[in-house]
Amino acid sequence: MDCIFCKIANKEISSNIIFEDDKIIAFHDINPQAPYHILVLPKKHIETLLDLKEEDKELIGHIYLIINKIAKDLKFEQRGYRVVVNCKEEAGQTIFHLHFHVLAGRTMEWPPG
Ligand code: AMP
Ligand code: ZN
Repeated sequence: MDCIFCKIANKEISSNIIFEDDKIIAFHDINPQAPYHILVLPKKHIETLLDLKEEDKELIGHIYLIINKIAKDLKFEQRGYRVVVNCKEEAGQTIFHLHFHVLAGRTMEWPPG
């Protein structure tokens, strides 16, 4: 399958990894939109948020707990951070392998652009 995030997950393409276990990987976004911009994703190929299945419930909970761990490790948990999932084209999804953007280190605006 020609998926850039699958290739990053199985190390065919290098990335700046900050966390990894058997189920997920987290690395710095190549085009950061904030002082911290980390992508957290399941190693398993899931195209969009809409493609989640009952069996993925635990995986998604795990992703959020690791996001919190990253926030503490990188010490932006006190100031706060934003987690974003773009689901499909209109929301801005460009890579069709589910990923969670973690943004921190500056004041965020609302509504988002
Ligand atoms: P989205 O638009 O929500 O699908 O997000 C895709 C994100 O992947 C964008 O923020 C890109 O900057 C990022 N990205 C694309 N290629 C790479 C790469 N090779 N390494 C790290 N981040 C990437
Ligand atoms: Zn993939």
